[in-house]
Amino acid sequence: MAKILVVGSINMDLVVRVPHAPNPGETVLGGDFETYQGGKGANQAVAASRMGGEVTMVGRVGNDDFGDTLIQGLVENNIKTTYVIKDSEAPSGVAMIAVASNGENIIVVASGANHKVSVEDVNNTRALMREADILLLQLESPLEIVTAAVELAKAYDVPVILNPAPAQELSKQLLAQIDYLTPNQPELEMLTGQKDIDASIKKIKKWGVKNLIITLGHNGTRVITAGMDKHFPAFEVTAVDTTAAGDAFNGALAVALAEGKSLVDAVRLAMAAGALSVTKRGAQPSLPERESVDSFLANQK
Ligand code: ADP
Repeated sequence: MAKILVVGSINMDLVVRVPHAPNPGETVLGGDFETYQGGKGANQAVAASRMGGEVTMVGRVGNDDFGDTLIQGLVENNIKTTYVIKDSEAPSGVAMIAVASNGENIIVVASGANHKVSVEDVNNTRALMREADILLLQLESPLEIVTAAVELAKAYDVPVILNPAPAQELSKQLLAQIDYLTPNQPELEMLTGQKDIDASIKKIKKWGVKNLIITLGHNGTRVITAGMDKHFPAFEVTAVDTTAAGDAFNGALAVALAEGKSLVDAVRLAMAAGALSVTKRGAQPSLPERESVDSFLANQK
């Protein structure tokens, strides 16, 4: 089985639907309060697990009710949680989300225990990293943790996927060690400080990223490697909620590459997972199972 290590964030999303986004000082009466398990790290771990990967999550939650629920949720998704630590001081990470009826979101994240993940936590996964087929990272963890995880992976020749979300500037030293970088277009612009997509690509290549996979929403993906620069149009689906398309994509990409698929085949599987995720509402509830992705692909011309 494809062994995937995910080092990243685990959050509880606290959601209220509101008629309009509140202005500063304004109180808006919303609908019922809902909770969903989230965090980009956890979402991508769930995505990879549903795609058939053997997934271990590395991160921290609080020693609180949310923490228990979050770990339980990972376990229910067949994710190994031995390396998810319950922090004794910081509360579980939460995202407070107001969703307005026009689709606009107001989001406030309190990282909590996610920001207590230590370099030691990462280095404690040494035995696991040695056996891993791929390491999957995002940017909701402190940068020193991302860097430590990349360094450990490199020590054991484990390929690294970095989904640079949420966007921030990164050092060239870090980027040079990334095997697969998967920004969407705004994240690419943020990374390079350049609006022009071709100029951005040139910069990223110069920095030494081996494979750049730009996700373009309903426009599909563009894949740039040493010998290829190719656009792949998206699969046609009826989109109802694009939340977590990138998470579905990255989780599936990790599994496909860990299974030894070619990059083009891996991207195709990831695009199918991304497409299916937008046909359902929510983040984790929309992440597809391998069976449905395989049969979706089998039905494409
Ligand atoms: P993110 O959520 O990180 O912004 P994208 O929106 O680019 O990521 O989605 C990731 C991938 O999912 C895309 O490259 C595409 O293959 C697929 N996808 C996203 N939205 C759609 C859509 N509306 N129709 C078909 N495929 C989609």
